[in-house]
Amino acid sequence: MQKHDFYINGKWVKSDSPDELHIINPATEKSLGTIKLGNRKDVDKAVNAARNSFHSYSQLSVKHKIDLLTTIREIYKRRLEDVAHAIQIDMGAPKHLALNSQAKVGLAHLKAAIEALKSHKTEYEYRDFIIRHEPIGVCGLITPWNWPINQILSKLAPCLASGCTAILKPSEIAPLSALVICEILDEAKVPAGAFNLINGTGQIVGEAMSSHPGIDMMSFTGSTRAGISVAKASADTVKRVSQELGGKSANIILDDELFETSIRKGVQECMENTGQSCNSPTRMLVPFSRKKDAYEIAVSEAENIIVGDPNENRTIIGPVVSNIQFEKVQKLIQIGIDEGARLLSGGIGKPNGLEEGYYIKPTIFGEVNNNMKIAREEIFGPVLSIIPYKNIENAIFIANDTEYGLAAYISGKDREKLNFIARKLRAGQIHINYSSGGGLRPIWWIQAIRKWT
Ligand code: NAD
Repeated sequence: MQKHDFYINGKWVKSDSPDELHIINPATEKSLGTIKLGNRKDVDKAVNAARNSFHSYSQLSVKHKIDLLTTIREIYKRRLEDVAHAIQIDMGAPKHLALNSQAKVGLAHLKAAIEALKSHKTEYEYRDFIIRHEPIGVCGLITPWNWPINQILSKLAPCLASGCTAILKPSEIAPLSALVICEILDEAKVPAGAFNLINGTGQIVGEAMSSHPGIDMMSFTGSTRAGISVAKASADTVKRVSQELGGKSANIILDDELFETSIRKGVQECMENTGQSCNSPTRMLVPFSRKKDAYEIAVSEAENIIVGDPNENRTIIGPVVSNIQFEKVQKLIQIGIDEGARLLSGGIGKPNGLEEGYYIKPTIFGEVNNNMKIAREEIFGPVLSIIPYKNIENAIFIANDTEYGLAAYISGKDREKLNFIARKLRAGQIHINYSSGGGLRPIWWIQAIRKWT
């Protein structure tokens, strides 16, 4: 694997940047090698390539683009295990999750782009006008490490389908799966310059991309902090900016016959991917009158979660991605204890027998109130905060009382009630009874992916 080179204008090229970064396997804390960290000059080269390519790439016929994406998808299918393995060693996802969710979702994004191309009307009449959809131009794609391929292909597939050219800067913390994608696109003979990859830090490569006059649009997924920097740096060149940022999603549990199942699934969904999903339901809201039952059920579910080596079949959650993330989560668990929340399960320190690797105990807090730091900040680890509510109005208020607005969950039996509550929640995605699947036994999610693979 060309770990040191960047992919620019259809070739693997050297960077003259002296800076390198170790890629650390979070399960072993050992280095897997180094990547180069690019600089402004590398960004300039990639932008030139993408701009030159845009003239011809944007003119490709729909058929040509469908054929190209179909070829990419075929090669991706063949290399699925490589993609999954790279994800596993990059960020510690257990192998069943890396393969069946994290890698397979890439096939779904490619298929969705192909289907969209087949049916999309690029031009149509409206009153006296002709409305025509044009590709925006050169797109800068910046992605995080937690669902690395999901984020890359959910940007790249529509970008190439619409006739835009792309410069990808994957997360420097988990760069290997992006390099496999690069090999796949190279084999598929994506026209030179239509896809380019530069590794590097957000502060240097990400900033150089966001402020570059030769990039027309930035598509960013990551933390709110970095998203703000991207938007600010993009403003002077009047770029379009699309952002997917952090979350602290509420999960309202109704008091009905699904109570126990809803809590068990809520714990699973929060802990999936070791709690490192932007839309994890990390604030569980339970009726005050049932809080003791809720705590007992949540603890018994947390005890079922096997933390361990991502390579072992029985492992349900692996390590968190890095030492920085490990320390951050430990600090927030301590803050939860100091704030007076009740530690029901898990806590500070590594699980028994897992001294090597960034492993964290699945942790459940009860008696949390929504003003505590553990209810307001995105922890991004296997930590659930359970907050009692007085009545449904109070639950809706608590759910909406967050600076984030990514997702919200409601779980219960009464469809009318669920729909009523859903309409009151201020979030981009509302999951009714875990509708998008997820959970540690991701049946729905796998079904959804199967539909598209
Ligand atoms: P991060 O913001 O630290 O990094 C994400 C990407 O942004 C990386 O490629 C990084 O190099 C780059 N970056 C960092 N600073 C930058 C800057 N100043 N300018 C330009 N680029 C910069 O986030 P992370 O730790 O990699 O990922 C976790 C975060 O991503 C969480 O907050 C999570 O909620 C969020 N996320 C959101 C979604 C979503 O769909 N909303 C999906 C996945 C992850």
